This record gives sequence, structure tokens and C-alpha cells, in this order.
Amino acid sequence: MNESLNPFKVAQTQFDEAAERLGLEPGLRDLLRWPRREYVFTIPVRMDDGSTRVFHGYRVQYNEARGPTKGGLRWHPEETIDTVRALAAWMTWKTAVVDIPLGGGKGGVTCDPKKLSDGEKERLARGWVRAVARELGEHRDVPAPDVYTTPQIMAWMMDEYETIVGRSHPAVITGKPLPLGGSQGRNDATARGGVYTVREACQALGIDPAGTYAIQGFGNAGQYAALLHPEILGGGRLVAVSDTSGGIYNPDGFDPRELVEFKRDNGKVSQFPGAQSIHNEELLELDVNVLYPSALENVITAGNADRIKAKISCELANGPTTPEADEILFKNGVHVIPDFLANAGGVTVSYFEQVQGTYNYFWPLEEIHQKLDAHMTRAYREVREMQQEMQVHPRLAAYLVSVTRVAEAVKLRGWV
Ligand code: NAD
Repeated sequence: MNESLNPFKVAQTQFDEAAERLGLEPGLRDLLRWPRREYVFTIPVRMDDGSTRVFHGYRVQYNEARGPTKGGLRWHPEETIDTVRALAAWMTWKTAVVDIPLGGGKGGVTCDPKKLSDGEKERLARGWVRAVARELGEHRDVPAPDVYTTPQIMAWMMDEYETIVGRSHPAVITGKPLPLGGSQGRNDATARGGVYTVREACQALGIDPAGTYAIQGFGNAGQYAALLHPEILGGGRLVAVSDTSGGIYNPDGFDPRELVEFKRDNGKVSQFPGAQSIHNEELLELDVNVLYPSALENVITAGNADRIKAKISCELANGPTTPEADEILFKNGVHVIPDFLANAGGVTVSYFEQVQGTYNYFWPLEEIHQKLDAHMTRAYREVREMQQEMQVHPRLAAYLVSVTRVAEAVKLRGWV
């Protein structure tokens, strides 16, 4: 089977299926299957050894019909314009599914941040902003963190932007550190939002919330999911986790806090005392109640979908499942909470950060949690209703909800 693993092709295939179901007219369909604007540029950076290295940077503004484009920045060795396009498309559907007044965008740099010093990262961050400063702004396009970018990087970027425009602009970027206008609750928002949807799914499907769970990818999203799953569901046994160093398994369950501490002190999860080692592929195929794919794209494909035994797959990562795998999971009764719904908590609290930054007035943590829960619960229920009404797999149901909303905004503006 020749399955396309180009993330943008995957994103377009998913959209096409929804557009077909909705019977969108050709002009509207064409507009929504491509980014509106793309910026591709070079960033020269003075390295610590005095040499200059040239990095490739990207920003894609996919669609702004519902509001300013919004989306994270990924610094990764395999970043390409197509991964950025795909992630920008998914951001468009994500802001629509949780019904916040924003569009979708994404950006990145092809680099290996693990090989850069703090000084080099700072110069790269500032160089990225200088390249696209004219296109950014709280009413235009608002970046945020994604894989391998951090609150510190957002702080340097905000500082560079404010230096260029000569005034305070905290809402130009989200995911900032708290003392610089970050929001309470942003750190764990992606995972928290995902776990809220798992709580709803367990209730809707009659699944025991105190059962087993496993996490592929133990970074920001994965670690917080490990901690929050038992807190929000009132139980649960974490039997396996993995990162790029490999996976570990314990059928009796790990203490999530010990794993997070171990990862913090050692930079990896493998070699956690007393754990069996397990391949990343085996982890995905474990017989657990809830699987959280929380690393990168294309880990559940036509090649392994038939062996996935989890009852619920809550996609904290973007793009972990290919369209062919989706069909197989649906046929086998695996309940997928699709990425742009499952991980929408991050952008939802980013949106709260933007609103608070614009007003220069900040909300307490309880209020953030309460508002996030309301958004995620409503979004999950709307997608579930659509799924039951149309008898389609959950990702297609989520697309039907989102594409309808974006298409309506495009038409009201008179673009098509
Ligand atoms: P991160 O850099 O903090 O963590 C990524 C983790 O995945 C690391 O622990 C890394 O070791 C691990 N990993 C990478 N390749 C792997 C592999 N092949 N097998 C197992 N583990 C692997 O990134 P993050 O912010 O946690 O993002 C993870 C995913 O969640 C991405 O797809 C990202 O786009 C998505 N996401 C994150 C946020 C957010 O707010 N952090 C929001 C929405 C979506």
C-alpha cells in the first residue's frame, strides 16, 4: 500500500473528504484547501564560534476568515514548508472546533535546538521575528510555542517585536513566562484540555475512567497528561511511556510524578529504575483504555492500525494518524479524539492569554480552568453529536463542524 505520509497531503485529503460530504462549491473548496499566505526566509545567525550559519524559517497564515491567524512555532531538524502548511491548516480547524474568534497559522525553523547554545537560540529567535515582524500583531497573526520552543523563546521574540515597533505589545505572542504577561494555566493547557475530552468520552461510551493509560512522547503535552489524567478522571493506571530514548512499561503502573522527575533529572525516560523496556511501536499497540499519542506525525498508519487495541486514542500530537489508519480504527471500534479537538486546550488558553494581554488584566487559575473545561466539553459534545448524526468517524465529524464554521465566515465576508 502506497500511503502518503506528507502531512500537508494528509491534511488536504482529510479536508477533501469533509468538503465532499458538505457539498462545498468548487471555489470555496479551492480556497480552503490552500494557505492564504506563506513566508519562507533565511535567518543568518552569528554562532558562538564566530561563524555565521544560515537557518531556514517559515510562517504560514492559512486562513483568517474567523479572526487573526494563530499558531505555534516548531524548531525541528525535519521541519519543512509542508509540515508548517499542514499544522497551519489544522490550526484553522482547531480554532473553529472550539469556536474561538481566530484563524489558523503556524511557523517554524529547520534546526536542531538540542545543538544550539542559549545565546544562539536567542539570536535565532530574534532573527525569526525580524524576518516577519511586519506580518505579526494581535490583530494580524499571533505565534506561540510548539515542539522544542519554550516560554523563554517567546519572551525573546516579544522583546524583539516591541523593540522594532517601539511600544508594549504583550498580546503579539502567547506562551510567554508569567512575569511577562503569560497566562495562568498555559503550561498544562494542551494536556488538560485533552484529558477533559477523555473524561467526556469515558462518560459517553461507558468506559471505566480508572483503567489503564499509556503515553507516547513524554514532552510538554505527554508529561502533563500523565499527571492530569488521574486528577481529572479520579483514577487511572499509567502503564507505559516513551520518548526519543525509548519506552518503558510496568503493568502495575508508574507514579507519574516520579517519571516526570526522572525525565527532568536525566533528560529521558529509558532506564527508569525497575521498568521493562518497550519499543515505541509496541507501546502504541498495548491493550489500554486510553492511549495518548503525544509526539509527532504519522505514528498510526495503515501498517499498524489493525493492531491498535486502545479503547480511546486521544491525539495530543498533531497528525499522529493517517487517513487510511482512521478508517481502520473506526472499523475496529477505537474511539479517536482527533488532534485538532484533543489538543485544542493549548490554543484556547493562548486565546485567553491574548485577551488578558490586550486588556492588561489577568484572571485567576480557577477561572482559566473553568473556562477551558466549558470550551472543551462543548466542543467534544458538538463533535459527538455530528458523529452520531452523520455516522462518520470522529475526525470527519470534527472536520464537518469546523469546515462549516470557516466556510460560513468566508461566505459572509463575500470572498466566495
Ligand atoms: P515537546 O518537544 O515538549 O515533546 C515532544 C516529545 O516527543 C519529546 O519528549 C520527544 O522525546 C518525544 N518524541 C519525539 N519523537 C518521538 C518518537 N518517535 N517516539 C516517542 N517519542 C518521541 O513537544 P510538545 O509541546 O509536547 O508537543 C508534542 C505534540 O503535541 C506535537 O505534535 C505538538 O504539535 C502537539 N501540540 C503541542 C501543544 C503544546 O501546547 N505544547 C499544543 C498543541 C499540539
